[in-house]
Amino acid sequence: MKSYAYGFPRLGKGREYKNSIEGFWNGSLSEQDLNARLSENQNTLYSTYSQYVDAFPSGEMTRYDHMLDTAVMVGAYRPVTLEEYYNYCRGSGALEMTKWFNTNYHYLIPDLTGISPGDLSLHWNRTLEASAVSGKSFPYLLGPYTFLKLSRGVGRARMPEFMEALGAIYAEAVSAAPDVHIDEPAFAMDVNSDEIALIRKTYEVIGSAGARIHLFTYYESVDFLKVLFDLPLASLGLDFVHGEGNINALSELSFPGDMRLIAGLVDGRNVWKNDIARSIEMLRRLSRSAGSISVSNAAPLYHVPVTIEGEPLEPGLLSRLSFALEKLQEIKLIAEGHEKGIVPTMAPSAPVLSDQKVAARIAGLGEQDFTRSSPYEKRTELQRSALNLPPFPTTTIGSFPQTAEVRKKRLDMKKGRISSEEYNAFIDEKIADLVSLQEELDIDVLVHGEFERSDMVEFFAEKLEGIATTDHGWVLSYGTRVYRPPIVHGDVSRPSPMTLREIAKAKSLTKKPVKGMLTGPVTILAWSYVREDVPVEVAANQIALCLRDEIADYEKNGIGIVQVDEPAFREKAPLKKRDWDAYFKWAVRAFRLATGSAADRTQVHTHMCYSRFGEIMDRIMELDFDVISIEASRSRGDIVESFEEAGFDRQIGLGCWDVHSPEVPTREGMREVAERALRVIPGKNFWINPDCGLKTRGWKESVPSLRAMVEFARELRKEKTI
Ligand code: GLN
Ligand code: ZN
Repeated sequence: MKSYAYGFPRLGKGREYKNSIEGFWNGSLSEQDLNARLSENQNTLYSTYSQYVDAFPSGEMTRYDHMLDTAVMVGAYRPVTLEEYYNYCRGSGALEMTKWFNTNYHYLIPDLTGISPGDLSLHWNRTLEASAVSGKSFPYLLGPYTFLKLSRGVGRARMPEFMEALGAIYAEAVSAAPDVHIDEPAFAMDVNSDEIALIRKTYEVIGSAGARIHLFTYYESVDFLKVLFDLPLASLGLDFVHGEGNINALSELSFPGDMRLIAGLVDGRNVWKNDIARSIEMLRRLSRSAGSISVSNAAPLYHVPVTIEGEPLEPGLLSRLSFALEKLQEIKLIAEGHEKGIVPTMAPSAPVLSDQKVAARIAGLGEQDFTRSSPYEKRTELQRSALNLPPFPTTTIGSFPQTAEVRKKRLDMKKGRISSEEYNAFIDEKIADLVSLQEELDIDVLVHGEFERSDMVEFFAEKLEGIATTDHGWVLSYGTRVYRPPIVHGDVSRPSPMTLREIAKAKSLTKKPVKGMLTGPVTILAWSYVREDVPVEVAANQIALCLRDEIADYEKNGIGIVQVDEPAFREKAPLKKRDWDAYFKWAVRAFRLATGSAADRTQVHTHMCYSRFGEIMDRIMELDFDVISIEASRSRGDIVESFEEAGFDRQIGLGCWDVHSPEVPTREGMREVAERALRVIPGKNFWINPDCGLKTRGWKESVPSLRAMVEFARELRKEKTI
């Protein structure tokens, strides 16, 4: 039995990838040094793969992102120098970013709006560059359909001409190698019949160029497998972990005799150990319909950290985990086990942390727990008189610049160099400074600044029972940005208040309202690895109950505004629309469980950003919040229209300052966002705020930007009667 693996984390065990590229950016590494480091990383990937599997892709390394690289490959962008390449990634000329499928990796969105298919040509032959490794490796390419589907400015009308152009370009590219690996995860989306016809045509062209094509689909099942079976492919990779449809299809269809099935049996998106016996059993079933099979991972491995080695987790939990390196070992074990007809004996798995109290509370939930006591119209009146805010109230999304000083103190505390009292005193000082600054700027609803939080999910994971955090479990979020997803491994409970100390501190320093800040249940789950021994809604509701208790604590302490952030609400949705109802049902309920017991006069905010919200407006409305702040400075037209269509009747802060740009927002820019929105949204419902947290901004631009924002709100108040 052969084996194959792909997508091993390019980050490297010591985050070498990040350090090298950032080293180049800050001038400590030359371009030559950077190239040398990256090819060293690449070689480490090759030798890692070689130890465990028979074949793997070459050229998976990128200087930043594969969508951008593909845009350069086909000549949509033609940077000459490395600086020009990085201009597309960061700084003022940066491309917009969005989530890659329903993962937490963000890619750069190529914009083909002003480009015609005739302008494209093979500008950079990645295949040639990657082909020199070994006979076991196939140059890596991101497929034309996925590239176009995820780019901007293609659309239904232009898809045929673009697919035709790319067919020719890819045919030229692949002819440089005997074998190529092509990723087409977008095949797992809803693909219509016109697109299927285009895919067929394009791959017939690419397949006729002479190279053997090894095509990979993943994340979910593919609805048009029969069409793929007719294509000139040497292998086809399918996801059998998150692709139930693939399993069903293969029990009915017979796999083409001249094609190799690359069976994705090891989960690339979660961290639990593979059930080797079950995988071998699955292989047995698959070999009834496919002649030649390779065992593989079911999705790229870069969604999990490099290795569990050296991770100081509780041994019971550790024994249940498998990161990328361990997954390669599993692929090998499955292939060998099947070959030799021996099922390796596995150590019995450690018990999952269970909590009777939590289980009883979940079992006792009734419909009333998911509903606020009064409808929005009544709540909003009570809130207006309790809060007494001016028209066009100003606020921020929560975090303020996290300077090196703040990060150092946190590290000092973790390492035991300072006591937690000292750390808290430091945080309190930051809070006090920020409260005075906000008062001086005359912001209406204040925040405490989130200085105590390393990351909006990890922070809560550290406070909650049943969720573990890692020391070295880094995963790329975008570019060189990394985060450590926590692991939801058992029943979740809240031993004590998580955020109350800091919010209450801020509240004690001002007469203005202070907003308590929480990360919502869907986002905590979306950015964590989640246990699979219970349905996901159970874990979601357990987390929701912890947040609900936190809100009750806010209320007891006189904190009358709470913001429950759900930036991952859209991204976590399954790829195919037919699965949306099931997902949104539990996602909406979890949010409502978290906020449902808030008193009528408590104003519940939520915040979302960097996703396409148009198509989910009605689901967003079901959350039953009082105020939403939403990112709009990049996709303003689209979103305002959707609010109109949805008959939006709540309060909204349409982010009028793009915090991902270092520029101070201009009055014209803010006005453009506001005027457009005010055509659809009544002035009395309109808030003025940035479009996301200021964590990654510097103070230098944040203060003048906030000043400009407050000034703009004052102008609106003078001009508009509401
Ligand atoms: N309250 C969070 C912050 O300001 C929200 C972050 C987010 O939307 N990703 O940082
Ligand atoms: Zn945000």
